[in-house]
Amino acid sequence: MNTKILKITENNIDEDLINEAINVIKNGGLVAFPTETVYGLGANGFDQWAAEKIFIAKGRPQDNPLILHVSSIEQVGELVREIPKVAIECIERFWPGPLTILLKKSDKIPSIITAGLDTVAIRMPEHKIALELISGSNTPIAAPSANTSGRPSPTSAKHVIEDLMGKVDIIIDGGDTGIGLESTVLDLSGETPMILRPGGVTKEDLIKIIPNIEVDFAIIKEDENIVPKSPGQKYRHYAPKSEMVVYSGDVENIVRAILEKTEEYISGGKNVGIICTDETKEFYKDGIVISMGTRKDEKTIAHNLFNILRLFDEKNVDIILSEGVDFSFLGVAIMNRMMKASGGKIIEV
Ligand code: AMP
Ligand code: MG
Repeated sequence: MNTKILKITENNIDEDLINEAINVIKNGGLVAFPTETVYGLGANGFDQWAAEKIFIAKGRPQDNPLILHVSSIEQVGELVREIPKVAIECIERFWPGPLTILLKKSDKIPSIITAGLDTVAIRMPEHKIALELISGSNTPIAAPSANTSGRPSPTSAKHVIEDLMGKVDIIIDGGDTGIGLESTVLDLSGETPMILRPGGVTKEDLIKIIPNIEVDFAIIKEDENIVPKSPGQKYRHYAPKSEMVVYSGDVENIVRAILEKTEEYISGGKNVGIICTDETKEFYKDGIVISMGTRKDEKTIAHNLFNILRLFDEKNVDIILSEGVDFSFLGVAIMNRMMKASGGKIIEV
């Protein structure tokens, strides 16, 4: 397939170019587009054949459902059976933004979108290109992250091109994404409101509206005996090509542990990659050292993480030793992605 790359600026959207992308969606094709979280791979959410193309292009397991993206709150009505009061409160507070809400699905949605589940995931992105693409197409757009399944999610058009060139109709290059991690998935379909995937909207943000909110334990602890409630959390994700180990705890202990391991690996003839922070960078004298940003601003770390994981795929390292961050606020989402990227190899120090 011939993939066309359209360069579009968020604050000055070229009407001809966005219309070209809209026509592809209307005709059942695939468009990769920027959102404020990561790049999405979009298709008409009411067209099961178009949705099937998403699974093929990504190599996504069929049992992993897709998020439907809307451009207005009115669009939600035909997608769900009911909208509980708490969902309306969350929508008013956090949309457009990085919060995906699970509700009981209506019959209009093809079962391929929800992987046969009785619930549907819905979000309104906060990105002008995404919103124009959805409203112009006049349909909800089904869109998972625009990467090959298993690889780190794409935070720039370059990442999408690496994974999907020749597999999709259009890639919209709208620059780097802001947040850099996927949306928070919040289940409001049952008795207990529960976070199934941590993301851009934190538990601390949500608890103000939902005091009884719970967190699916599987997102912070990888254990073969715990089955995650969100199918996507089952899979190894975001994985760099080399092995990765994450060190969590007090910063001084983290640095000491990584220095010790680095020496051990290097004397064994291995190439070591180190993911550190601005505060600790000076301590590492050996290995390929990349900082995620400052510990004082976890937004920067979230923004940079997936790009760094991809960067290490281009460097010839045998092992990546990564610093962890605190399990609070955005740190929960960062640690969840590190847990997935490392296949659960988080060492407490
Ligand atoms: P991605 O499309 O890569 O951002 O991943 C979407 C995430 O939302 C995956 O972890 C999915 O498993 C999850 N998800 C989507 N729909 C549902 C649903 N109906 N029930 C549970 N999880 C869902
Ligand atoms: Mg994904």
